[in-house]
Parts: sequence; C-alpha cells; structure tokens
Amino acid sequence: MSPISALPAPPLSLPPSTVCIKLQALNTTASLYVKSTNFLHPTIPGHEIYNCPTLAFLLSHPSGQKILFDAGVRKDYWNYAPLITRRFGAAVNVKGLRVDKGVDEVLKDAGIELGEVDAVVWSHWHFDHVGDLSLFPDSTKIIVGPGFKANFLPGYPKNPEASLLESDYAGKEMVEISFQEAMIGGFRAHDFFGDGSFYFLDVPGHAVGHMCGLVRTTESSFVLLGADACHFAGALRPSIYLPMPEVLDGRWGLDEYFKNPCPCEVFGECHPGKEDEKRTSPYYTASKAAGSAYVDPEVANESIQALKAFDASDDVLICLAHDPGLFEVLPLLNDGPRNEINGWKEKGYKEMLRWRFLNELPRDGKPGRKPIVLGFWRDGKEVSAVEALAK
Ligand SMILES: [Zn+2]
Repeated sequence: MSPISALPAPPLSLPPSTVCIKLQALNTTASLYVKSTNFLHPTIPGHEIYNCPTLAFLLSHPSGQKILFDAGVRKDYWNYAPLITRRFGAAVNVKGLRVDKGVDEVLKDAGIELGEVDAVVWSHWHFDHVGDLSLFPDSTKIIVGPGFKANFLPGYPKNPEASLLESDYAGKEMVEISFQEAMIGGFRAHDFFGDGSFYFLDVPGHAVGHMCGLVRTTESSFVLLGADACHFAGALRPSIYLPMPEVLDGRWGLDEYFKNPCPCEVFGECHPGKEDEKRTSPYYTASKAAGSAYVDPEVANESIQALKAFDASDDVLICLAHDPGLFEVLPLLNDGPRNEINGWKEKGYKEMLRWRFLNELPRDGKPGRKPIVLGFWRDGKEVSAVEALAK
C-alpha cells in the first residue's frame, strides 16, 4: 500500500464578515434504525440496516434572534398524517423508532422558552425534520426552501394525501427562501440576516426544497448544517481531498475492536470500489433504488460532490443530521445549556469526526455497531407496530 497524496482543497470563496452566530447542537432524542437500500448505494453486506440518531441546531444571532434548524420527530409520532403513519405501519423501511422527547422539551430543559425561538427551519419536509410545531407559539415563523409551498401545502386533513399536518403551520408565518445569483462553493446561497453570519444553501437532490445552513462560527470558520444532503459520513469520505491514511491510529476515535494502529486494508474489505479507489472514493452514493428517499439521486450526487469541497476545507465542519459520530464528539445542549460548538476548530472536532463513521461499517461482513433502537417504542416501552400507531 503506497502513500496517496491528497489533492488540495478547492477554493470555496467563503465571503468575509465579522458577525458570528452562537451555534448549539441538540440531540432531538429521535432514534431510527432504517433500511439502507433507500438511502445508500450500494447495499454493503452487514450494513443493510443502519443507525440514524437525529440532531437539530440552535442558532443565536447577536441581535438576540434565535433560529432552530430542524425539529426532529414528533414525540407522538402516531399522530403524523396518515401518509406517514401508513409507512411506519408497513414497518418495511423503519426497523426501529424511539422518541423520548420532543424538541420543545429539549429546549425547555435547557432553559429556553419556545417564545424565544423566532423561527424554525425545516431543512426539508420529511417527518424526522418537521417535529410538531403546533407546540410553538404563533410568533414562531417557519422557514422552508424553494418549491415547498407549491408542493406540500395544504396539509392534512384539507389534503387527505398530504405529508404535513395543517396544525404544523396553522397561524404561523411561513417564509419560503428564494435564492438569487449569489453562490458559495457551487451552491446558490442566501444571506439570511444580510450580515454574512448565516447563509442558506440550496442543496437539491434529496427532497424538494432541501436546504443546508452555513453558519459562521468565528470570523474565518463555519459549520455547514448538512441536514440530509447525504445520509452517512461515508458518502463524503474518503475523497481525493481526504484520502484514508495508510494506518489509522488512536486519534481517530475508532472502537477498541480495531488494532491501534490499524492498517487501512481492514476498512477496504467492505468498500465496494475498485482496489485503487478504496482510499479516495466514498463508500456510498445516493440510493437510486425504486423506493429511494432521494427525489433525484443524480442531482443529489452532484450536491454531494460539491459538499466534498467543503469537507476538504479546514475552515468548514460538516454536520449531517444523522451522523452518529457527532453524538460522541459534540458537546450537546442536552448536557448543558451553555454547551456550544463554535470552538470546533481549536478543539479538533473535525479530525475527531473524520473517520469515526468507520465504526458503523461491517466487520467481517457483520454489523459493526449494535442498533441504537430496535422495534417501535412508545412511552419508554417497546410495543408492536399496531400498538405504536394506535391513536
Ligand atoms: Zn432525515
């Protein structure tokens, strides 16, 4: 195995500003264990079902405005629109679902009143991102991406086949972001506060209206809230910019199962690529299966390709909504109301996260990690799918 030299990170032309956002990550407490085939391509034996814990983010602007980026799964998930609960009922794709708290409770536990939240961003319409906004006061706005209103309104019951509930947005102002010419790193960008502190990025492919967030955490560093641009960090890495090292030592946070240091060949075994690609191309691309969760897998793969340039930058930390590694590395709002992730660069979180996804991959063709949840849970108990969905 010979050394591979990384290509230099492509320029992103990140715009300058001195206005930063205080950024906090919260565990929404929604745990999912889902079939890979609808999210990841190809299916790697031993990783047919995979872990999806769910993060959201709280942004505090110097003006005092607070924005919640994504809202997790509603605690009473049996009260989603029938279009959604029917899918749970089939129990084909979701093999485990547990929600201990709504984001409303997570925020209140951290001493944040819901009335302080000026806006909630729905990165996209999927159930694990919209939560239950009927619990928030009418003063809370909802921010959505391009095409959202035309495609998803009205909600249920006005439209019996809608995925959203009318109660999710009734009485609230819904702001649909419209992107103009500004571009950052190949994506259309919208400067939300007009001061360079927080940009929405138009990142298409997964769902109509899917947006990422680009948060300035210091004058020269950013966190990219990746939402569901892809569903596994191993869809971004390794890359030609971040090739896998020949030997992985203790600094990468690998499980004790692996020898320390561990030769990279161990992780090449389950890599679906050719021998010369295993250290420079990701494990996965977007699912193009018949039931794919991606509305346009080709476009999603173009988006993922552009995200690799952000991933390559020392100045950007990408946080996908469902990356298990983040729960091990980031200090969460759940564990302390003052916990924030602005210091990610000096604390080395990006390096601590880079190869952690390898822990989730199969070992000798068997699942690497245990499921974070199995079966449907309600009020802290495992129940049958029928019981789980009873109103
Ligand atoms: Zn999701």
